[in-house]
Amino acid sequence: MWYVSRMKIQNKIALIFTALCAGIILALSAFVYFFASESISASFFHRLEVRSDIVGHAALQENKSLTSIYYDIKERHLGSLPYEKHRILPDPPDEATRKRLSLPSSFYEAAQSDVPVRYFNRDTSYVVLRVARDNKKLMVVSSALDTYGMQEMGNLKHVLLIGFFIAMVFVFTFGKLFSNEIFKPIRRIIRNVKGINAHNLHQRLVVDPTDDDVEALSRTFNDMLDRLEITFEMQNNFVSNASHEFRTPLTIVSGEAELGMSMPGLPDGAKESFLNIYKEVGKLEHLTNSMLSLAQTGFDGKKEQWEEVRIDELILSVKEAADRIIPENQVAIDFDNLPEDECKLTVNGNLALLKAAFSNIVLNSCKYSDNKPVTVKISADSKYVIVDITDQGIGIPDREIGQIFVPFFRASNTAPYKGYGIGLPLTHNIIRMHQGKADVHSRVGEGTRFTTYLPYKYF
Ligand code: ADP
Repeated sequence: MWYVSRMKIQNKIALIFTALCAGIILALSAFVYFFASESISASFFHRLEVRSDIVGHAALQENKSLTSIYYDIKERHLGSLPYEKHRILPDPPDEATRKRLSLPSSFYEAAQSDVPVRYFNRDTSYVVLRVARDNKKLMVVSSALDTYGMQEMGNLKHVLLIGFFIAMVFVFTFGKLFSNEIFKPIRRIIRNVKGINAHNLHQRLVVDPTDDDVEALSRTFNDMLDRLEITFEMQNNFVSNASHEFRTPLTIVSGEAELGMSMPGLPDGAKESFLNIYKEVGKLEHLTNSMLSLAQTGFDGKKEQWEEVRIDELILSVKEAADRIIPENQVAIDFDNLPEDECKLTVNGNLALLKAAFSNIVLNSCKYSDNKPVTVKISADSKYVIVDITDQGIGIPDREIGQIFVPFFRASNTAPYKGYGIGLPLTHNIIRMHQGKADVHSRVGEGTRFTTYLPYKYF
């Protein structure tokens, strides 16, 4: 049941169609088999009755030469049935005779009417009929085996079974082909919708003017995308404008704090207050700048300046920046797998954004490992330049890994470390802007590995 509910609709339709046809074909086959069997058995009983009648009338003859004429006619014109046997009994038969033949007593009772009675037991057909002449009454019990009829029924069974299986194969194959054909437009829609995300929200589904449900579905999707795009744009504009508006007052407060600190003759306490204001405003500035970048990179339409960027050089500059911010860091760059072809190291992108993206990952690795060794490995495959950043830090709890690219999310084990949960969402947006992807593998207490894939320029 679980499997059926997880199945593709196309396969479900093909299976339901096959099951329906199987039911109809089975019912039809049972019907054919039943009527063929009834008609074969009726005709056999009839042939047995004719022979039984001749035998009965022969037995009634006093004149032996007439008896042999009856038998002669029977043999010559009708022939014998397989295992044909006739028993002439007194009418009504006595108890001893009944016992000897071991036929149900209802059989004899029914035979009291003048209509021949038929009985079928263990492949053998029995007929009992009464014959009378002058004052003499006899009962004839005849039996025979319908071997020919049984063979016919056996053949019919085989033909019906083989026909059933062949029909099922055809029905399933055609069912699948049909459902495949019917679902083609739906699959196209699914493919197109999958390709639409926050970065290309302006894209729309191609609407075939077929005037059917598929057209209505495409139009509904497009309407929904219109609404989504407007909402996204509004949200981004809000974040972007708010961050922008914060910047000037923050710069002023920062400048004033700096000025305050440098005033001569300031009491120690006041100097420390100015220093605290300066530091905290610095953090706020960093936060607003990050939010502004997040808003700008999170939505298509605003393309920054694009240029050729060498990833190895970029990583070196990230390392330099890390050395300035955290002098005690142990970041090491592993060039062992560097591709020889420099084209495989060059991506088309925005230098400042890419630098921000990799700095976020590298600085996180230093931060969450308390400056234990961090390795940055650069390599390439047939399409991407790959950067692996591995640390030996606190790791990310399994069930939270899926959320680390969500803005403002911080894992439950990060309480001792300062942060806002903006760096990785920004990094993710930047990588996606460059048609790349990012993977995270992490184990709590062992460390984390971020792998980024960026398509190189000449791919
Ligand atoms: P934060 O300012 O909190 O570091 P980020 O957006 O940079 O925000 O990261 C989001 C969350 O991802 C972090 O709060 C942390 O839980 C987790 N994280 C990121 N990098 C690492 C890492 N190298 N090791 C462990 N956890 C990490």
